[in-house]
Amino acid sequence: MDNATDHNHSLQVDVILRSADGHDFRFYKYLLSLASPVFDTMFALPQPSLSSSSPDSKDGLPVVELAETKPALQRLLGMYLPDYLEKDGKIASVDEWKEVFSAANKYEMKAVVKCLSWNLESLAEAEPMRVFALATQHGLNEAAQKAAFNTLKVPFGGWGAFPELECVTGGDLQRLFQYHTACGRLASSTLKDWFFKVDKAYCWYNCSSGKIWNGSQYVSNWWQTFTEGLAVVLEKKPLGATVEEGELASKALVAASLCPNCRTIAPADMERFRRAFAARLDEEMSKIVLESRS
Ligand SMILES: [Zn+2]
Repeated sequence: MDNATDHNHSLQVDVILRSADGHDFRFYKYLLSLASPVFDTMFALPQPSLSSSSPDSKDGLPVVELAETKPALQRLLGMYLPDYLEKDGKIASVDEWKEVFSAANKYEMKAVVKCLSWNLESLAEAEPMRVFALATQHGLNEAAQKAAFNTLKVPFGGWGAFPELECVTGGDLQRLFQYHTACGRLASSTLKDWFFKVDKAYCWYNCSSGKIWNGSQYVSNWWQTFTEGLAVVLEKKPLGATVEEGELASKALVAASLCPNCRTIAPADMERFRRAFAARLDEEMSKIVLESRS
C-alpha cells in the first residue's frame, strides 16, 4: 500500500504522509479526518501555500512528516482501505503490533485500536507472556485471558526476561500466579475425576497381569506410573498440550510393551486417552478466569 491511488477511487489523493524513514504515502484527507480527530484538527488549520519549492509540499500536495516508520504507517493506513485483509492480512509479530498500536492511540484512531485489540489475541499462542503484559497494560482483558491460558505451557516464572515485563506490576504477576495455581489444582482434580468416569474399555483397566489399586480401581502398573508422572507435570503446566507431549507416554508404552496383554492395544488406547483428556483439560481450564486490574 504505497499509494492510495492504487485503489481506483473516484476520490483523489490530496495529501502526502512522510514516514520517519522518508517514505511517502499518498492518501486522502477525508479518510484521515474521519479516522482520526488528530488529523481532522490538523487539516482544519489554515494550510500553507503549495509551491513546488516548498519543503512542505510535493507534486502540488501538502506533505505531513510523521514520526512512525514505513511498515507501521503502511499497516495503519492500509487498515482504512477496502482490500486490507486480502492484501496485508493479520499482524504477525508483537513488535509490529506495538508500533501500530502506539500510532493508532497517538492519532486517536478508535476503530484501529479496537481492531488491534482483537488482533493481539491471535499473537497470544506464539508469545503468551509478552501478549499478557501488553494486554494487561492496556486493559485488553480478553487478550490477557487468552495469553494467560497460553502461559500455562511454561511453569510460572520460567519465561526468562522480555522487554514488556517492565510494563506489568507485581500485582499483575501475583494475579497470573494465582491463575496458574488455580489451574494446577483443577488439572490435578480433573485427572483424579477421570478415574471415576473412565471408558472401561481401556486396556489398563482390563489387564489381568501386573495390577495395582489406585485408590478407586485396579489398573496396570505401567499405567499407574504414567498417571503419577502426568500429575506432577500437570501441576506446573496444567493444559492439554502437556498431555500431548510425547515423553511420558513413550516411556509408558515401552513399559506396556513388556505386558503380553497390553502390548498390542496400549498404543491405540493411549492415543485415544491423550486426545480425549487433553480436550477435557483445556475445557476445564477455560473455566478459570484471570483476575484483571481493578
Ligand atoms: Zn497389561
